[in-house]
Amino acid sequence: MKRAVFPGSFDPLTLGHKDIIDRALPLFDEIIIAIGINSSKQYMFSLEQRISFIKETFKSNDKIKVETYQGLTIAYCQKVKSDFILRGLRNPADFEFEKAIAHTNRKMSEIETVFLLTSADTSYISSSIVRDILKNKGDVSRFVPKAVIQ
Ligand code: ADP
Repeated sequence: MKRAVFPGSFDPLTLGHKDIIDRALPLFDEIIIAIGINSSKQYMFSLEQRISFIKETFKSNDKIKVETYQGLTIAYCQKVKSDFILRGLRNPADFEFEKAIAHTNRKMSEIETVFLLTSADTSYISSSIVRDILKNKGDVSRFVPKAVIQ
């Protein structure tokens, strides 16, 4: 079974994340959307809220699972028997950052990182900009799935 882990904070899930997940679906038998728990990070949405945004958005797709993990992403991949990490690339800054992590993960394990380039119409979306708009009581409906707005 070809299984991929899509790790991230998803604080909150955006249409950019959704684009990557939708486009990765034909490539894998199962995609685990894995919310990394970092106790030193402050989140806008609780873990329960972030899980429920993802579950609600992908409720009609049984190839997608939502889980949480702590520690190294490669250790988590080994635990759930996933040979692939899925990541999205928006711009050169993402590429430089992701390249170092992917090389490091590859040195430490057999796990391959699969990158998908974001679609042009969602490549500018980021969870941090969505959080800024929300803090200032703006409308984020063009940037996040319906489940997040409700
Ligand atoms: P992290 O804190 O690990 O960056 P995020 O939740 O911000 O977690 O992102 C998870 C993954 O989704 C990363 O691979 C990131 O590059 C990708 N991603 C984030 N926003 C977008 C977007 N607008 N288009 C495509 N991929 C995105």
